[in-house]
Amino acid sequence: MKIERRKKCPGCQKWFTPDPRTQDRQRFCSKAACKKASKAWRQSRWLAKPENRGYWGSAERKQKVKFWREENPGYWRNHKRKGRVRYKTT
Ligand SMILES: [Zn+2]
Repeated sequence: MKIERRKKCPGCQKWFTPDPRTQDRQRFCSKAACKKASKAWRQSRWLAKPENRGYWGSAERKQKVKFWREENPGYWRNHKRKGRVRYKTT
């Protein structure tokens, strides 16, 4: 049974069928301009999270995050799952 999962590209507002291998992650269609928009969108979404703000600010902070991650190995996995967005095709 073939299930067609179509999404509306936020870049060009056109419906497209995402690559079956990346359909959970793909949000924009494969046009060059939309790929560019997709990259910017992912980055802005990442920066919108408070924990990522200032992440690149200093090497010291980076190091702290690294230690913290090692002490809390479960957090990132859970957080990632929680933050995953599923898009409805309707
Ligand atoms: Zn597009």
